Amino acid sequence: MLEKANVRVIIVQLDETWKEVLRRAEYPRNVQRVLSHAMVAVPLLASTIKFDGRLTLQARGSGPVKLLVVQAHADGGQRGLAQWVGEPPEKPLQAVLGDATLTLQIESGKRGEVYQGVVEAKGDSLQDAIDHYFENSEQLPTRLWLHYNGDQAAGLLLQQLPLEPSAADSRDREDDWRKVSLMAATVNSEELLTSDVTTLLPRVFSDDDVRLLEVEPLRFACGCSRERTSALIQGLGYDEAKDILQQEGQIEIICEFCNSKNVFDSIDVETIFRSDAPDADENTVH
Ligand SMILES: [Zn+2]
Repeated sequence: MLEKANVRVIIVQLDETWKEVLRRAEYPRNVQRVLSHAMVAVPLLASTIKFDGRLTLQARGSGPVKLLVVQAHADGGQRGLAQWVGEPPEKPLQAVLGDATLTLQIESGKRGEVYQGVVEAKGDSLQDAIDHYFENSEQLPTRLWLHYNGDQAAGLLLQQLPLEPSAADSRDREDDWRKVSLMAATVNSEELLTSDVTTLLPRVFSDDDVRLLEVEPLRFACGCSRERTSALIQGLGYDEAKDILQQEGQIEIICEFCNSKNVFDSIDVETIFRSDAPDADENTVH
């Protein structure tokens, strides 16, 4: 917190979490860049909202990066993947993603509400696109910076907070915001990627009163499981599942996020469908 300017600063630094993503596919450098930016942007954005579910950033389009999807859960777990063809360019973003719609979806866990926003693929990078999204939204003034060096990914987000109704506003809020943005822009890639935040922030914002808040760990986590995969097979229907079994001998489902493989033979498949509706009814109280 920058107490004088009333601005929130959030920094995300990914090291192991990012390496977990890299271990799962041989991404070309320019795919790594856009995926790493998304892996940082999503928890940055998630930290600005109060939610108990998950936040998903997804782009699906005609570009060399055909699919980009990153999900962050309220518990700090996150996962991401990209699908691509050939050698995507570094920039602009539209040349990387093609005519993609970038969607930002917030799902609240308990209430089951879904909010969706559309981010236009504008500018050189995801950073530009998200900045543009905030400039054109009714939300609090927000800016972010995203960096990647091949091993680590990091980002910084600034957000002006609403004024407490009781607070006497003697300061020039716009001027404060402009100054703080300029200070944040001086943080270079290497500093943001490798510095200890507790020393970096007081130095960068030395004109303000910096109050350090808690550190929240992030980690790579995939929500897939054998149970969920079974549900997927159930969704195919018995006849379709039997067809695949006949052709392939078994049903093999690989999770694209974490590469874990689930194999189902004919006995597994029979079990899945036998535990279908009639049996499940036995556990229901009428
Ligand atoms: Zn998985």
